[in-house]
Amino acid sequence: MTENSPRYDLVLTGGQVFDADTGASRVADVAITGDKVARIAPDLAAAGTETIDCTGRYVLPGLVEGHTHIFAEVSKVGAPPDEAHLRRGVVAACDAGTVGASTFAAFESYVAAPAQIRLVNFLNVSVLGLIDFRFGELMNPDTLVPEDALAVAEANPHRVRGFKIRLSEDVVGHNWRPLLKRSLSLAAEAGLPLMVHIGETPEPLPTVLDELRPGDVIAHCYTGKPYGILRDGTVLPEVYAARERGVLFESAHGKSNLSFKVAKPAIEQGFLPDVITSDTSARNWRGPVFDLVTSMSNLRALGMTMEQIVPRVTSAPARLLGLDAEGYGSLVEGGPAHVTVLADAEEAILPDAAGNTMPAVRLEPEVVLRAGERIATVPWRGLPADA
Ligand SMILES: [Zn+2]
Repeated sequence: MTENSPRYDLVLTGGQVFDADTGASRVADVAITGDKVARIAPDLAAAGTETIDCTGRYVLPGLVEGHTHIFAEVSKVGAPPDEAHLRRGVVAACDAGTVGASTFAAFESYVAAPAQIRLVNFLNVSVLGLIDFRFGELMNPDTLVPEDALAVAEANPHRVRGFKIRLSEDVVGHNWRPLLKRSLSLAAEAGLPLMVHIGETPEPLPTVLDELRPGDVIAHCYTGKPYGILRDGTVLPEVYAARERGVLFESAHGKSNLSFKVAKPAIEQGFLPDVITSDTSARNWRGPVFDLVTSMSNLRALGMTMEQIVPRVTSAPARLLGLDAEGYGSLVEGGPAHVTVLADAEEAILPDAAGNTMPAVRLEPEVVLRAGERIATVPWRGLPADA
């Protein structure tokens, strides 16, 4: 090899490269060799076998989705993982409660193991999981079988990173408190977090927050349904107190759980989600939710900066899911080459879950690398068919 011969397989040149922990950015080149990030520095283009001009683009660690539903063909709720996520810039994702102990083996064999994207899950505390939205999985409380959930979690540490309970009245009836307590003790025994879906809970949010431990997660923090985080337009003091104790809040748009009328004042008051998630499912991945980059675009249009957004779709979800130890959620020399390059696309009218709309400059994935491999992206699913 002569002094001038290429030293890197690929160099992404001139992009705005983000630090996943701080959200700070600088213009630099990112050089990839094999499945690793070889170097991040200015002026590396001449040493690349191939270069991609990323001028004016945002260069991020591969995105990590903390809340989605990906159990297609067994659950009516599941969207296809690689198609809905990987090809839209997400390199690792968490299925949030579609799967229960009785359906886990099918999820492992037919979805998680074959997928190209790295999948983990928060196991539904009901052995049934979320098979069909029409029938609450805990209406029969006997479906919460702690020993079954524990056995699956203990046998599958590579996959199970927490538990999920949906606490809406149409899932738990009025029986919410004993079900939540049993879920929390099961999660404590496994040493894992519990994710709690709110919106139409039988009692106001502070009553639920009182029960949660540091590291547990509130899903749908900007829900417009009854018993969310606001009272008379102001974020509840109990919500700040829970955050102070270490309870986490994730945005989880979902088909029915992001309200711009809640998110906007909350963001103005400085209450940002700890983790930004899409809650993509079979019901919404072709709209109104679409994907994680659309959720990022929504929150940017509501006032969050890229500096605030980037850690919440990279390092924060990677830590929550225990994927930081595998190198997800960061972009560093010597680390795995998971990279998502985003561009500002055309302005679109984006909907929330309550029928409100808002103009937003959409973020669009242009380059996606998973362990150095270039992934073919697909266009935003909100575009007209002939676009
Ligand atoms: Zn969900």
